[in-house]
Amino acid sequence: MKCDVLVVGAGLAGSTASRVLAECGRKVLVVEKRSHIGGNSYDYKSECGITVHKYGPHIFHTDNKSVWDFVNRFSGFRYYQHKVLSYVDGMFLPFPINRDTICEMFGLNIGTCDVKTFLENEVRNSSFNSPSLNFRDVVVSQVGEMLYQKFFRNYTVKQWEIEPEMLLPDVAGRIPIRESRDSRYFTDKYQGVPVNGYTAMIQNILGHENISLLLNTDYDSVKADITPNLTIFTGKLDSFFNFEFKELDYRSVNFDVKTYEKNNFQPAAVVNYPNDYDWTRITEFKQMTGENSEKTVIGFEYPKKNGEPCYIVSTKENISKRELYMAKVKDFEKTGHFLFIGRLAEYKYYNMDQVIYATLSKLNKFK
Ligand code: UDP
Repeated sequence: MKCDVLVVGAGLAGSTASRVLAECGRKVLVVEKRSHIGGNSYDYKSECGITVHKYGPHIFHTDNKSVWDFVNRFSGFRYYQHKVLSYVDGMFLPFPINRDTICEMFGLNIGTCDVKTFLENEVRNSSFNSPSLNFRDVVVSQVGEMLYQKFFRNYTVKQWEIEPEMLLPDVAGRIPIRESRDSRYFTDKYQGVPVNGYTAMIQNILGHENISLLLNTDYDSVKADITPNLTIFTGKLDSFFNFEFKELDYRSVNFDVKTYEKNNFQPAAVVNYPNDYDWTRITEFKQMTGENSEKTVIGFEYPKKNGEPCYIVSTKENISKRELYMAKVKDFEKTGHFLFIGRLAEYKYYNMDQVIYATLSKLNKFK
């Protein structure tokens, strides 16, 4: 069967690419192996009417106006600014670490200008590699050993199932350390959650007469029968190349959803549990979506090795393998018949806005 554009995967990368090409008059066929669109940003309404993010909490945040304008074409946004508390030593403390975290934790009353001195003192009494070679070095060089142990070490081991010394520094770069009292998780100019959810937004992105969608359809089961002019691949990088350079590690989550017969469960939309219990964090969805109900829906997150891939694992070994695969990607893309986009296909720890930006940038030349 002939086809103009074949898009593999109906997540954010695949649907954004489909939309851009459809608007250029190209005919797009999207194949998605899961039974739903949206990839890992898929959400659904629970029985009590609260929207649940099936693969963990997703908050849209970007500094990029073109990305913000793009998503706003397909959904209104609730102007939600995400806040997280970390449960440490029996206290719910602001996270990322800021002036208030330090004051509440140590019973201090210091001004923001004294936070620097406090942290410098902690760092002076700690040892680490400089320049940083790994996740631990980045954190300890900013906050010292004690705060690293309380807030970062055990969460990181739960999340990645490896010692933080094995993780590359970039993962730690996701979490700022603040001297100020700013308690937001993100500081991007534009932040929010789609008013009717991500699935509805992505449904609208895919809603174009030039786009057809096949769910429950694996790329491997159709690729021998379809000859597209252009294939946009958003699945796992190693699987596309038949694991030629061995498997890349991806990480999944078991997201255990529970409904409770009470109005409120916890003091913030997300509470992180670095040290206690086996879950990494608990999400209370109504605090993010603003939905009203006498009940509340909670998601407990248990990271795991196998299952739907949600994260790449930033270790030296994986990144070296990635380089080998990306050289092949370059050759394939040079032909003009293939593009590889998104977290899984580029093996990059992208946020949602970065996926959309990467997609819009890569497709510019096809316009
Ligand atoms: N992290 C941590 N303690 C926390 C939250 C995060 O040590 O309370 C570390 C952990 O290694 C995690 C990484 O920072 O994987 C990135 O956190 P982020 O919240 O960005 O993870 P995501 O939302 O992508 O799961």
